Amino acid sequence: MTEIQIYNAQKKAKMAFTPIDANNVRMYVCGPTVYDFAHIGNARPAIVFDIMFRLLRHVYGENQVTYARNITDVDDKINQRALDENRSIAEVTEQTTAQYHADIDALNVLRPNIEPFATQHIPEMIEMIETLIAGGHAYAAENHVLFSVKSMPEYGKFSRKNLDEMIAGARVDVATYKRDEMDFVLWKPSSDDQPAWPSPWGNGRPGWHIECSAMAKKHLGIEFDIHGGGLDLIFPHHQNEVAQSCCANNTDRMANHWMHNEFLNVEGEKMSKSLGNFLTINDARKQHPAEALRLMMLMTHYRKTINWSKDSAKEAVAMLGKWHEKTANIGEVSSADIPANFIDAIADDLNTPFAISLLHKMAGTPLKAAAQFIGLLYETQADFISFKPAGIKINAAYIEALIEQRNTAKTNKDWPLADKIRDDLMAKSVVIKDSTNGTSWEYKK
Ligand code: AMP
Ligand code: ZN
Repeated sequence: MTEIQIYNAQKKAKMAFTPIDANNVRMYVCGPTVYDFAHIGNARPAIVFDIMFRLLRHVYGENQVTYARNITDVDDKINQRALDENRSIAEVTEQTTAQYHADIDALNVLRPNIEPFATQHIPEMIEMIETLIAGGHAYAAENHVLFSVKSMPEYGKFSRKNLDEMIAGARVDVATYKRDEMDFVLWKPSSDDQPAWPSPWGNGRPGWHIECSAMAKKHLGIEFDIHGGGLDLIFPHHQNEVAQSCCANNTDRMANHWMHNEFLNVEGEKMSKSLGNFLTINDARKQHPAEALRLMMLMTHYRKTINWSKDSAKEAVAMLGKWHEKTANIGEVSSADIPANFIDAIADDLNTPFAISLLHKMAGTPLKAAAQFIGLLYETQADFISFKPAGIKINAAYIEALIEQRNTAKTNKDWPLADKIRDDLMAKSVVIKDSTNGTSWEYKK
């Protein structure tokens, strides 16, 4: 059986993965807060943990893996958006969830087995909060319930932060109802225009962290195998999930392995609305074939920052063009066709860049099987080529990559190859024209 290795941040080393129950391998990943179109940064954890999901299913069996990824559908950003647009909260969350599904389905991200909605787990959250209060780990004050950080001596160990870092990282509010400034909200009161559920502490709504603790427990049990999310979630979100779950369930851990993907920057800068480099998955899908977006996510190891750029998009499109070319005549493939060293690369802490370097050396059936294993080459070559960026008629980056290959062939006086590329382009309704200024092209249908 393939051995999976997962990086452990506490030990600063890769560790062998052994599931608690090989017949039910369990993974939880923090999903999106549904208030607006997801950006390409949000697509990163969706794709990284999709690769993990595919790998676990391959190693342990399709029906032996339970993957839960939640939808956070109660949050102040959602309330604000509903208010701004004069829409109901349900309308905002339903529409945003549908958009999220459409976007990540297009990226060939498999649906998790369970997609729990926070608003459908309020009784489980209330029950967990009551257990925490009974155990002396939480207290009610002024219609709020707070987790008492001092009640857990190990608090901070998970995120490896000292008190000053935690105070800075959590951007904690000093409030009259808090015994200690580090204490965080489990339950808070709602005003008339905010969503509210009845509770022993009055009408209110849950804090963000308790949602994941309650949903993970309900669907995966008090201890499970893998918990994932983006790096920004380590503190405070995951630290607080660990605190709540361990204190409520009387365990010393919530999950055996924690995996965090690094961030994605655009053209070397942090993505932000104010910098104008904010890119939604939806807009990115209009610029490049979805397959290329997926490949761009996999070209960088999940623990390294991705620099999303026009150049990396061009590179991804050119690679896929070649692989489509090489596998155009290959029919159905099966997982038995995947070269063992390819699976080993993915099993080695999801080393997708190395796996991609192996794809370059493959052709035919193994190439198609291996690429499909990581969710690539799911479109037909014809669909890939006829992709039309909004406003442009054809996949320009791909055409330009082919023209570059033809120019190299001409420099090398490889006339048969140069002619072949021109004919191939012609077959795709692309007419090229050579002049002293270089090569131009036109799409003529
Ligand atoms: P949010 O909806 O903001 O809670 O984010 C959903 C997921 O996307 C979390 O796992 C975040 O860590 C992750 N995420 C947010 N921004 C980025 C980014 N720029 N790069 C990579 N992951 C991100
Ligand atoms: Zn979470």
